[in-house]
Amino acid sequence: MQTALADFIRDTPEGREADAILRKCVHCGFCTATCPTYLLLGDENDGPRGRIYLMKQALEGQEITDRTRLHLDRCLTCRACETTCPSGVQYGRLLDIGRKLVEEKTARPAWERVRRRALAAVLPRRSVFALLLTLGRLARPFLPESLAEKVPASAPAARARPAPRHPRKMLALAGCVQPALSPDINAAAARVLDRVGISLIEVKGAGCCGALRFHIGYQEEGLADMRALVDRWWPMIERGGVEAIVMTASGCGAAVKEYAHLLSHDPAYAAKAEKISAMTRDVSEVIDAEHARIEPVPGTRGGRVAFHPPCTLQHGQDIKGVTERVLARAGFELTPVPDSHLCCGSAGTYSILQPELSARLKRNKLSALASGAPEEILTANIGCLAHLQSGTGLPVRHWIAALEERLS
Ligand code: SF4
Ligand code: SF4
Repeated sequence: MQTALADFIRDTPEGREADAILRKCVHCGFCTATCPTYLLLGDENDGPRGRIYLMKQALEGQEITDRTRLHLDRCLTCRACETTCPSGVQYGRLLDIGRKLVEEKTARPAWERVRRRALAAVLPRRSVFALLLTLGRLARPFLPESLAEKVPASAPAARARPAPRHPRKMLALAGCVQPALSPDINAAAARVLDRVGISLIEVKGAGCCGALRFHIGYQEEGLADMRALVDRWWPMIERGGVEAIVMTASGCGAAVKEYAHLLSHDPAYAAKAEKISAMTRDVSEVIDAEHARIEPVPGTRGGRVAFHPPCTLQHGQDIKGVTERVLARAGFELTPVPDSHLCCGSAGTYSILQPELSARLKRNKLSALASGAPEEILTANIGCLAHLQSGTGLPVRHWIAALEERLS
Protein backbone atom coordinates (compact mmCIF):
# COMPACT_ATOMS: atom_id res chain seq x y z
CA MET A 1 0.00 0.00 0.00
CA GLN A 2 1.29 3.48 -0.91
CA THR A 3 1.46 5.88 2.03
CA ALA A 4 2.08 9.61 2.55
CA LEU A 5 2.07 10.19 6.29
CA ALA A 6 1.47 13.75 7.52
CA ASP A 7 4.35 15.89 8.77
CA PHE A 8 3.17 15.79 12.40
CA ILE A 9 3.83 12.05 12.67
CA ARG A 10 6.03 10.94 9.75
CA ASP A 11 9.39 11.20 11.53
CA THR A 12 8.31 9.96 14.95
CA PRO A 13 8.92 6.37 16.12
CA GLU A 14 5.16 5.76 15.94
CA GLY A 15 4.92 7.24 12.46
CA ARG A 16 7.77 5.09 11.15
CA GLU A 17 6.26 1.97 12.68
CA ALA A 18 2.77 2.73 11.33
CA ASP A 19 4.19 3.45 7.88
CA ALA A 20 6.06 0.12 7.78
CA ILE A 21 2.91 -1.76 8.84
CA LEU A 22 0.65 0.03 6.35
CA ARG A 23 3.06 -0.68 3.49
CA LYS A 24 2.77 -4.42 4.15
CA CYS A 25 -0.99 -4.45 3.60
CA VAL A 26 -1.92 -5.48 0.06
CA HIS A 27 -5.66 -4.98 0.64
CA CYS A 28 -6.41 -8.60 -0.20
CA GLY A 29 -9.25 -8.77 2.37
CA PHE A 30 -8.47 -12.29 3.65
CA CYS A 31 -8.68 -10.86 7.17
CA THR A 32 -12.31 -9.75 6.82
CA ALA A 33 -13.45 -13.38 6.79
CA THR A 34 -12.19 -13.95 10.34
CA CYS A 35 -13.20 -10.59 11.84
CA PRO A 36 -16.05 -11.01 14.36
CA THR A 37 -17.38 -7.47 13.98
CA TYR A 38 -17.37 -7.65 10.18
CA LEU A 39 -19.22 -10.96 10.36
CA LEU A 40 -21.86 -9.37 12.62
CA LEU A 41 -22.23 -5.99 10.94
CA GLY A 42 -21.18 -6.60 7.32
CA ASP A 43 -19.70 -3.10 7.03
CA GLU A 44 -16.21 -2.79 5.48
CA ASN A 45 -15.37 -0.13 8.10
CA ASP A 46 -16.12 -2.66 10.85
CA GLY A 47 -13.55 -5.07 9.47
CA PRO A 48 -9.75 -4.92 9.61
CA ARG A 49 -9.19 -3.77 6.02
CA GLY A 50 -11.60 -0.87 6.44
CA ARG A 51 -10.14 0.08 9.82
CA ILE A 52 -6.64 -0.01 8.38
CA TYR A 53 -7.80 2.38 5.69
CA LEU A 54 -9.42 4.68 8.26
CA MET A 55 -6.19 4.76 10.28
CA LYS A 56 -4.16 5.42 7.13
CA GLN A 57 -6.38 8.43 6.35
CA ALA A 58 -5.96 9.71 9.92
CA LEU A 59 -2.19 9.29 9.80
CA GLU A 60 -2.09 11.08 6.44
CA GLY A 61 -3.70 14.12 8.04
CA GLN A 62 -7.25 13.75 6.74
CA GLU A 63 -10.15 14.73 8.96
CA ILE A 64 -10.78 12.37 11.90
CA THR A 65 -14.46 12.16 12.76
CA ASP A 66 -16.62 10.55 15.43
CA ARG A 67 -17.42 7.85 12.84
CA THR A 68 -13.71 7.01 12.63
CA ARG A 69 -13.64 6.63 16.42
CA LEU A 70 -16.81 4.53 16.43
CA HIS A 71 -15.39 1.99 13.97
CA LEU A 72 -12.15 1.75 15.97
CA ASP A 73 -14.12 1.48 19.24
CA ARG A 74 -16.07 -1.44 17.81
CA CYS A 75 -12.84 -3.35 17.18
CA LEU A 76 -12.37 -6.04 19.83
CA THR A 77 -8.55 -5.98 19.54
CA CYS A 78 -8.94 -9.75 19.22
CA ARG A 79 -6.23 -9.86 16.52
CA ALA A 80 -7.87 -12.71 14.61
CA CYS A 81 -7.12 -10.63 11.53
CA GLU A 82 -3.44 -10.67 12.40
CA THR A 83 -3.11 -14.44 12.56
CA THR A 84 -5.06 -14.69 9.26
CA CYS A 85 -3.06 -12.11 7.32
CA PRO A 86 -0.70 -13.68 4.76
CA SER A 87 1.39 -10.49 4.57
CA GLY A 88 2.26 -10.27 8.29
CA VAL A 89 0.42 -6.99 8.92
CA GLN A 90 0.71 -6.24 12.64
CA TYR A 91 -2.78 -4.88 12.99
CA GLY A 92 -2.68 -4.74 16.81
CA ARG A 93 0.34 -2.43 16.82
CA LEU A 94 -1.18 -0.21 14.14
CA LEU A 95 -4.38 -0.04 16.19
CA ASP A 96 -2.46 1.16 19.27
CA ILE A 97 -1.03 4.02 17.20
CA GLY A 98 -4.30 4.76 15.41
CA ARG A 99 -6.39 4.76 18.57
CA LYS A 100 -3.99 7.11 20.36
CA LEU A 101 -4.20 9.59 17.48
CA VAL A 102 -7.99 9.36 17.22
CA GLU A 103 -8.30 9.80 21.00
CA GLU A 104 -6.21 12.98 20.80
CA LYS A 105 -8.04 14.47 17.82
CA THR A 106 -11.67 13.81 18.76
CA ALA A 107 -13.76 14.59 21.84
CA ARG A 108 -15.88 11.89 23.43
CA PRO A 109 -19.21 12.92 24.97
CA ALA A 110 -18.95 13.76 28.70
CA TRP A 111 -20.77 10.59 29.88
CA GLU A 112 -18.46 8.41 27.80
CA ARG A 113 -15.40 10.14 29.28
CA VAL A 114 -16.69 9.65 32.82
CA ARG A 115 -17.44 5.98 32.20
CA ARG A 116 -14.00 5.27 30.74
CA ARG A 117 -12.27 7.21 33.50
CA ALA A 118 -14.19 5.22 36.13
CA LEU A 119 -13.22 1.90 34.53
CA ALA A 120 -9.59 2.98 34.29
CA ALA A 121 -9.64 4.04 37.94
CA VAL A 122 -11.39 1.01 39.42
CA LEU A 123 -10.46 -2.12 37.48
CA PRO A 124 -6.66 -2.03 37.86
CA ARG A 125 -6.91 -1.49 41.65
CA ARG A 126 -7.33 -4.91 43.22
CA SER A 127 -8.73 -3.77 46.59
CA VAL A 128 -11.11 -1.19 45.11
CA PHE A 129 -12.43 -3.74 42.60
CA ALA A 130 -12.84 -6.37 45.34
CA LEU A 131 -14.81 -3.92 47.50
CA LEU A 132 -17.11 -2.94 44.62
CA LEU A 133 -17.63 -6.60 43.74
CA THR A 134 -18.70 -7.34 47.33
CA LEU A 135 -21.12 -4.40 47.27
CA GLY A 136 -22.38 -5.50 43.83
CA ARG A 137 -23.09 -8.99 45.17
CA LEU A 138 -25.09 -7.55 48.07
CA ALA A 139 -27.08 -5.34 45.70
CA ARG A 140 -27.45 -8.04 43.02
CA PRO A 141 -31.08 -8.95 43.80
CA PHE A 142 -32.10 -5.31 43.29
CA LEU A 143 -30.12 -4.65 40.08
CA PRO A 144 -31.66 -4.69 36.59
CA GLU A 145 -30.95 -8.01 34.84
CA SER A 146 -28.47 -6.49 32.36
CA LEU A 147 -26.34 -5.24 35.27
CA ALA A 148 -26.91 -8.19 37.63
CA GLU A 149 -25.53 -10.65 35.05
CA LYS A 150 -22.21 -8.77 35.12
CA VAL A 151 -21.83 -9.45 38.86
CA PRO A 152 -20.90 -13.10 39.46
CA ALA A 153 -22.96 -14.46 42.36
CA SER A 154 -20.00 -16.19 44.01
CA ALA A 155 -16.50 -17.52 43.39
CA PRO A 156 -14.90 -20.77 44.52
CA ALA A 157 -12.82 -20.03 47.62
CA ALA A 158 -9.04 -20.16 47.33
CA ARG A 159 -7.61 -23.34 48.82
CA ALA A 160 -4.17 -23.59 50.38
CA ARG A 161 -1.05 -22.85 48.38
CA PRO A 162 2.05 -24.95 48.92
CA ALA A 163 4.91 -23.15 50.65
CA PRO A 164 7.91 -22.50 48.34
CA ARG A 165 10.18 -25.53 48.81
CA HIS A 166 11.79 -26.30 45.45
CA PRO A 167 15.06 -24.98 44.02
CA ARG A 168 13.16 -24.35 40.74
CA LYS A 169 11.11 -21.17 41.14
CA MET A 170 8.81 -19.23 38.85
CA LEU A 171 7.06 -15.91 39.34
CA ALA A 172 3.31 -15.56 38.97
CA LEU A 173 1.21 -12.44 38.51
CA ALA A 174 -1.85 -12.17 40.76
CA GLY A 175 -3.41 -9.61 38.41
CA CYS A 176 -6.05 -7.02 39.18
CA VAL A 177 -9.56 -8.53 38.85
CA GLN A 178 -8.71 -12.26 38.97
CA PRO A 179 -8.07 -12.55 42.74
CA ALA A 180 -11.55 -11.22 43.50
CA LEU A 181 -13.42 -13.03 40.71
CA SER A 182 -11.73 -16.40 40.99
CA PRO A 183 -9.16 -16.49 43.81
CA ASP A 184 -8.26 -20.17 43.42
CA ILE A 185 -6.78 -19.96 39.89
CA ASN A 186 -3.23 -19.02 40.88
CA ALA A 187 -3.42 -21.30 43.92
CA ALA A 188 -4.40 -24.22 41.66
CA ALA A 189 -1.51 -23.40 39.32
CA ALA A 190 0.84 -23.33 42.32
CA ARG A 191 -0.38 -26.75 43.48
CA VAL A 192 0.03 -28.30 40.01
CA LEU A 193 3.52 -26.86 39.57
CA ASP A 194 4.50 -27.92 43.09
CA ARG A 195 3.81 -31.54 42.05
CA VAL A 196 6.36 -31.26 39.24
CA GLY A 197 9.02 -29.62 41.41
CA ILE A 198 8.43 -25.93 40.71
CA SER A 199 7.51 -23.36 43.37
CA LEU A 200 5.28 -20.57 42.12
CA ILE A 201 5.72 -17.29 43.95
CA GLU A 202 3.99 -13.93 43.81
CA VAL A 203 5.78 -10.68 44.59
CA LYS A 204 3.93 -8.57 47.13
CA GLY A 205 2.64 -5.33 45.66
CA ALA A 206 2.90 -6.46 42.01
CA GLY A 207 -0.19 -4.91 40.44
CA CYS A 208 -1.96 -4.64 37.11
CA CYS A 209 -0.05 -5.56 33.93
CA GLY A 210 -1.16 -2.25 32.38
CA ALA A 211 -3.18 -3.71 29.51
CA LEU A 212 -6.45 -2.45 30.89
CA ARG A 213 -5.62 1.25 30.92
CA PHE A 214 -3.45 1.01 27.81
CA HIS A 215 -6.32 -0.36 25.71
CA ILE A 216 -9.04 1.91 27.06
CA GLY A 217 -7.49 5.15 25.87
CA TYR A 218 -5.02 5.90 28.67
CA GLN A 219 -1.83 4.67 27.09
CA GLU A 220 0.53 6.72 29.28
CA GLU A 221 -1.15 5.40 32.44
CA GLY A 222 -0.97 1.87 31.07
CA LEU A 223 2.75 2.33 30.43
CA ALA A 224 3.14 3.61 34.01
CA ASP A 225 1.47 0.41 35.29
CA MET A 226 3.90 -1.62 33.17
CA ARG A 227 6.94 0.23 34.54
CA ALA A 228 5.65 -0.23 38.11
CA LEU A 229 5.33 -3.98 37.55
CA VAL A 230 8.82 -4.15 36.05
CA ASP A 231 10.12 -2.35 39.18
CA ARG A 232 8.39 -4.85 41.48
CA TRP A 233 9.69 -7.90 39.65
CA TRP A 234 13.15 -6.69 38.76
CA PRO A 235 15.00 -7.29 42.09
CA MET A 236 13.96 -10.95 42.04
CA ILE A 237 14.87 -11.38 38.37
CA GLU A 238 18.20 -9.60 38.84
CA ARG A 239 19.14 -11.96 41.69
CA GLY A 240 18.61 -14.83 39.23
CA GLY A 241 16.26 -16.72 41.50
CA VAL A 242 13.43 -17.35 39.02
CA GLU A 243 13.51 -19.17 35.71
CA ALA A 244 10.24 -17.88 34.20
CA ILE A 245 7.22 -15.65 34.73
CA VAL A 246 4.02 -17.68 34.58
CA MET A 247 0.71 -16.20 33.46
CA THR A 248 -2.62 -17.75 34.33
CA ALA A 249 -4.58 -14.98 32.59
CA SER A 250 -3.82 -15.01 28.89
CA GLY A 251 -4.76 -11.32 28.62
CA CYS A 252 -1.99 -10.36 31.05
CA GLY A 253 0.38 -12.81 29.33
CA ALA A 254 -0.18 -11.20 25.94
CA ALA A 255 0.45 -7.77 27.46
CA VAL A 256 3.64 -8.70 29.34
CA LYS A 257 5.04 -10.42 26.25
CA GLU A 258 4.60 -7.00 24.52
CA TYR A 259 6.57 -5.06 27.16
CA ALA A 260 9.77 -5.43 25.11
CA HIS A 261 8.11 -3.57 22.27
CA LEU A 262 6.01 -1.09 24.26
CA LEU A 263 8.92 0.06 26.46
CA SER A 264 11.59 -0.16 23.76
CA HIS A 265 11.91 3.65 23.51
CA ASP A 266 12.40 4.11 27.25
CA PRO A 267 16.14 3.88 27.98
CA ALA A 268 15.53 3.19 31.70
CA TYR A 269 13.25 0.22 31.03
CA ALA A 270 13.97 -1.16 27.55
CA ALA A 271 16.51 -3.83 28.60
CA LYS A 272 14.52 -4.91 31.66
CA ALA A 273 11.31 -5.10 29.63
CA GLU A 274 13.04 -7.21 26.98
CA LYS A 275 14.23 -9.67 29.61
CA ILE A 276 10.80 -9.85 31.26
CA SER A 277 9.00 -10.45 27.96
CA ALA A 278 11.46 -13.19 27.07
CA MET A 279 10.89 -14.90 30.44
CA THR A 280 7.08 -14.81 30.23
CA ARG A 281 5.16 -18.04 29.59
CA ASP A 282 1.52 -18.92 29.56
CA VAL A 283 0.89 -21.59 32.21
CA SER A 284 -0.04 -24.03 29.40
CA GLU A 285 3.47 -23.70 27.92
CA VAL A 286 5.03 -24.52 31.29
CA ILE A 287 2.78 -27.52 31.99
CA ASP A 288 3.23 -28.80 28.43
CA ALA A 289 7.01 -28.74 28.85
CA GLU A 290 6.74 -30.68 32.14
CA HIS A 291 4.18 -33.19 30.87
CA ALA A 292 6.32 -36.25 31.53
CA ARG A 293 5.94 -35.61 35.27
CA ILE A 294 2.21 -35.00 35.29
CA GLU A 295 0.26 -38.12 36.14
CA PRO A 296 -3.51 -38.10 36.53
CA VAL A 297 -4.87 -40.27 39.33
CA PRO A 298 -5.68 -43.69 37.80
CA GLY A 299 -9.33 -44.68 37.74
CA THR A 300 -10.68 -41.10 37.74
CA ARG A 301 -12.49 -39.61 34.78
CA GLY A 302 -11.47 -36.44 32.95
CA GLY A 303 -14.95 -35.59 31.72
CA ARG A 304 -16.29 -34.05 28.51
CA VAL A 305 -15.14 -30.47 28.23
CA ALA A 306 -15.38 -27.67 25.68
CA PHE A 307 -12.26 -25.49 25.63
CA HIS A 308 -12.53 -21.82 24.68
CA PRO A 309 -9.10 -20.49 23.68
CA PRO A 310 -9.10 -16.74 24.46
CA CYS A 311 -8.03 -14.41 21.64
CA THR A 312 -5.14 -13.23 23.80
CA LEU A 313 -3.89 -16.83 23.83
CA GLN A 314 -4.48 -17.96 20.25
CA HIS A 315 -3.99 -14.64 18.42
CA GLY A 316 -2.20 -12.35 20.90
CA GLN A 317 0.39 -14.94 21.97
CA ASP A 318 -0.02 -17.19 18.93
CA ILE A 319 -0.34 -20.27 21.17
CA LYS A 320 -2.64 -22.75 19.48
CA GLY A 321 -3.49 -26.30 20.53
CA VAL A 322 -1.17 -26.42 23.58
CA THR A 323 -3.84 -26.33 26.31
CA GLU A 324 -5.94 -28.78 24.31
CA ARG A 325 -2.92 -31.13 24.17
CA VAL A 326 -2.37 -30.84 27.93
CA LEU A 327 -6.04 -31.58 28.64
CA ALA A 328 -6.18 -34.53 26.22
CA ARG A 329 -3.05 -36.04 27.82
CA ALA A 330 -4.72 -35.73 31.22
CA GLY A 331 -7.67 -37.76 29.95
CA PHE A 332 -10.23 -35.05 29.22
CA GLU A 333 -12.51 -35.59 26.26
CA LEU A 334 -12.53 -32.37 24.26
CA THR A 335 -15.78 -31.71 22.43
CA PRO A 336 -15.65 -30.08 18.98
CA VAL A 337 -16.19 -26.30 19.00
CA PRO A 338 -17.03 -24.63 15.66
CA ASP A 339 -15.45 -21.25 14.86
CA SER A 340 -13.11 -21.49 17.84
CA HIS A 341 -11.01 -18.66 16.33
CA LEU A 342 -13.80 -16.13 17.00
CA CYS A 343 -13.90 -13.85 20.05
CA CYS A 344 -16.46 -14.44 22.82
CA GLY A 345 -17.09 -10.68 23.16
CA SER A 346 -15.41 -10.19 26.53
CA ALA A 347 -12.30 -8.40 25.23
CA GLY A 348 -11.27 -6.46 28.34
CA THR A 349 -13.82 -3.72 28.88
CA TYR A 350 -15.59 -4.33 25.55
CA SER A 351 -18.52 -6.09 27.23
CA ILE A 352 -19.18 -2.88 29.19
CA LEU A 353 -18.43 -0.37 26.44
CA GLN A 354 -20.06 -2.22 23.52
CA PRO A 355 -22.74 -4.26 25.32
CA GLU A 356 -24.92 -5.13 22.30
CA LEU A 357 -22.16 -6.45 20.06
CA SER A 358 -20.60 -8.21 23.04
CA ALA A 359 -23.89 -9.92 23.93
CA ARG A 360 -24.34 -11.18 20.36
CA LEU A 361 -20.81 -12.58 20.32
CA LYS A 362 -21.38 -14.24 23.69
CA ARG A 363 -24.58 -15.92 22.52
CA ASN A 364 -22.85 -17.22 19.36
CA LYS A 365 -19.85 -18.46 21.34
CA LEU A 366 -21.92 -20.21 24.00
CA SER A 367 -23.99 -21.93 21.35
CA ALA A 368 -20.78 -23.13 19.60
CA LEU A 369 -19.31 -24.30 22.92
CA ALA A 370 -22.49 -26.16 23.90
CA SER A 371 -22.90 -27.84 20.50
CA GLY A 372 -20.79 -30.86 21.47
CA ALA A 373 -22.75 -31.39 24.71
CA PRO A 374 -19.88 -30.82 27.18
CA GLU A 375 -20.23 -31.19 30.95
CA GLU A 376 -18.36 -27.94 31.46
CA ILE A 377 -16.54 -25.14 29.64
CA LEU A 378 -12.86 -24.48 30.27
CA THR A 379 -10.93 -21.37 29.33
CA ALA A 380 -7.69 -19.53 30.08
CA ASN A 381 -8.56 -15.94 30.87
CA ILE A 382 -10.56 -14.51 33.73
CA GLY A 383 -12.40 -12.00 31.52
CA CYS A 384 -13.69 -14.71 29.15
CA LEU A 385 -14.51 -16.93 32.13
CA ALA A 386 -16.73 -14.36 33.89
CA HIS A 387 -18.29 -13.21 30.61
CA LEU A 388 -19.23 -16.72 29.45
CA GLN A 389 -20.43 -17.78 32.90
CA SER A 390 -22.89 -14.89 32.92
CA GLY A 391 -24.74 -16.44 29.96
CA THR A 392 -24.89 -20.16 30.66
CA GLY A 393 -25.93 -22.68 33.28
CA LEU A 394 -22.94 -24.87 32.37
CA PRO A 395 -20.01 -24.49 34.77
CA VAL A 396 -17.20 -22.35 33.32
CA ARG A 397 -13.77 -22.45 34.94
CA HIS A 398 -10.06 -22.08 34.30
CA TRP A 399 -8.58 -25.24 32.79
CA ILE A 400 -5.79 -25.31 35.40
CA ALA A 401 -8.43 -25.83 38.13
CA ALA A 402 -9.89 -28.78 36.20
CA LEU A 403 -6.42 -30.25 35.67
CA GLU A 404 -5.56 -29.86 39.33
CA GLU A 405 -8.73 -31.69 40.32
CA ARG A 406 -7.77 -34.51 37.93
CA LEU A 407 -4.34 -34.83 39.53
CA SER A 408 -5.42 -34.84 43.16
S1 SF4 B 1 -5.19 -9.91 5.12
FE1 SF4 B 1 -3.43 -8.62 5.63
S2 SF4 B 1 -2.74 -7.79 3.65
FE2 SF4 B 1 -4.82 -8.60 3.33
S3 SF4 B 1 -6.17 -6.80 3.70
FE3 SF4 B 1 -6.01 -7.90 5.64
S4 SF4 B 1 -4.31 -6.86 6.70
FE4 SF4 B 1 -4.15 -6.27 4.52
S1 SF4 C 1 -8.79 -7.14 15.97
FE1 SF4 C 1 -10.56 -8.50 15.78
S2 SF4 C 1 -12.36 -7.13 15.72
FE2 SF4 C 1 -10.53 -5.87 15.34
S3 SF4 C 1 -10.35 -5.80 13.11
FE3 SF4 C 1 -9.05 -7.51 13.78
S4 SF4 C 1 -10.39 -9.32 13.68
FE4 SF4 C 1 -11.72 -7.49 13.58
